[in-house]
Amino acid sequence: MLQVCTGDITRLAVDAIVNAANNSLLGGGGVDGAIHRAAGPRLLELTRTLGGCPTGEARITPGFDLPARWIIHTVGPVWHGGDQGEAALLRSAYESCLALAVEHQLRSIAFPAISTGVYGYPFAEAARIAVQAGAAYLSDMDIIIYCCFREPDATIYQQLIREITDEMDR
Ligand code: ADP
Repeated sequence: MLQVCTGDITRLAVDAIVNAANNSLLGGGGVDGAIHRAAGPRLLELTRTLGGCPTGEARITPGFDLPARWIIHTVGPVWHGGDQGEAALLRSAYESCLALAVEHQLRSIAFPAISTGVYGYPFAEAARIAVQAGAAYLSDMDIIIYCCFREPDATIYQQLIREITDEMDR
């Protein structure tokens, strides 16, 4: 099932939380900084050895001090107005995470709203891509959570989930 929650993604006890990382995988601001702080210094020790991650791809690490068992790090696109392949890259970021989750036989995953912070992707457009990608993996996962930081963001996801599940039922 697809679910929405509001709050801090680092608190979620799921198989994997997704990190909206940057290409270096060495930490940063926003959700990335929060995840590094909550997972503890062993995360940076490990990500230093990974050699970064191209935009649209994903890498998996243990969750270390997090309640989540794994962290799937992905890099969404920086928004440049929409004609630089941003939508395809964002879709690829979500799909890479979900493919890794399936490969590791994970059943629950929580996503932040990738690229919608400092990377500037318009929220509703990004959320639509997130929900479409999740819907395609529903049969592989028990639960896919969209974790929002702000209540109005959660409302946007709720509406999209309703639309997309209605379409699937038709
Ligand atoms: P990006 O660089 O991909 O834009 P950001 O971390 O700047 O990533 O923002 C992505 C989204 O994550 C934003 O919608 C922001 O509100 C949200 N966010 C920030 N901190 C957290 C957190 N601790 N838990 C869940 N979401 C968060």
